[in-house]
Amino acid sequence: MVSDGISSESLFCFLEECRRRDICWDHILSSMCTPPHQVAVRAHNLFMETNLGDPGLFPGTAHVDELLIRWFGDLYHAPDAGGCSTSGGTESNIQVLRFTKAAKKSDHPNIIVPASAHFSFEKACRMMGIEMRVAPLDGQYRMDIPKTAELVDKDTCCLIGIAGTTEYGMTDPIPALGKLAEEEDIHLHVDAAFGGLVLPFLKDAPQFDFKVSGVGSISVDPHKMGMSTIPSGVLMVRDEACFCNLLVDTPYLTVKQSYSLSGTRPGASVAGAYAVLAHFGKDGMEAIVAGCMENTRRLTEGMEAYGVKRKITPDVNVATFEHTEVPEPWAVSYTRSGDLRIVCMPHVHRDVIEKFLSEFGEFHDR
Ligand code: PLP
Repeated sequence: MVSDGISSESLFCFLEECRRRDICWDHILSSMCTPPHQVAVRAHNLFMETNLGDPGLFPGTAHVDELLIRWFGDLYHAPDAGGCSTSGGTESNIQVLRFTKAAKKSDHPNIIVPASAHFSFEKACRMMGIEMRVAPLDGQYRMDIPKTAELVDKDTCCLIGIAGTTEYGMTDPIPALGKLAEEEDIHLHVDAAFGGLVLPFLKDAPQFDFKVSGVGSISVDPHKMGMSTIPSGVLMVRDEACFCNLLVDTPYLTVKQSYSLSGTRPGASVAGAYAVLAHFGKDGMEAIVAGCMENTRRLTEGMEAYGVKRKITPDVNVATFEHTEVPEPWAVSYTRSGDLRIVCMPHVHRDVIEKFLSEFGEFHDR
């Protein structure tokens, strides 16, 4: 430990060197994040010092937060829905499990997730002493509803469906899950961390939002397809009363109660998220999503031309193929079953896809 400080010049030399060691976005094909849009960066910088944990000090920031929630309420066909900004999909999922567990009042609560669920549910269950029951998938990588129904019992506090799975980009049969949730009187949460900013902008996309009867909450991450700055998640609830059993007293703040998980919370990335969505509007988002889906199709076609089979035709811009290696320095990922997975995010432009395909072709034919 050095007790003397270092000059800002040397410090930034060092920090820049560290940053240069990061992989360049041009080669990142595995991430569900993307470099933030310039309007997000500008808004983020404007709100850099704000703290939504003490909203009475930052009423202007709190208003932007409210506008973000209203934007998603409109998008998801429930203008009166409640909501809360979070740090991302993990925190949103934790919040849902907190309030559904508290409402159930069972000594042995369980939730049912599809086998495709993001690992954040396992974290949340371990933290909260909840049993995680895993429902199998059908041949299309979607949650098997009859088998899900068999797992329900009196201690089930939440059913989870995914809109745009992390690994295969598929959407569970949310209307059938909603029916089951209503029959059994169980909260249904839709994890739309990724698909929540893709599916609403596609024609003939599977239904997943509050239009579907039985859907109680939806999580969506502007720091993924919303091109916002990190960290940015949103948790929408059909009935704001869901949050009531999370309230704690916060006597020394400007508001006297709080239900959020974190205390100090950034207003900057909330402003970033709102800025992108307000700037693009639904039409602009539709164009961006159309481009990503077109690139997903082109990549799939290109890989199949080399004899690499697709695993499934996805609902969102996540392409998967039977296992194959790719040349360096491309950063791809592999699913739990070992399949190649490439996410066609907004930074993965058509020329990036063509470059990847051409380098993959040379590597593959060696
Ligand atoms: N849910 C889904 C479907 C995801 O794909 C992800 C991340 O990729 C998460 C939740 C977790 O989001 P975060 O990493 O922002 O916490």
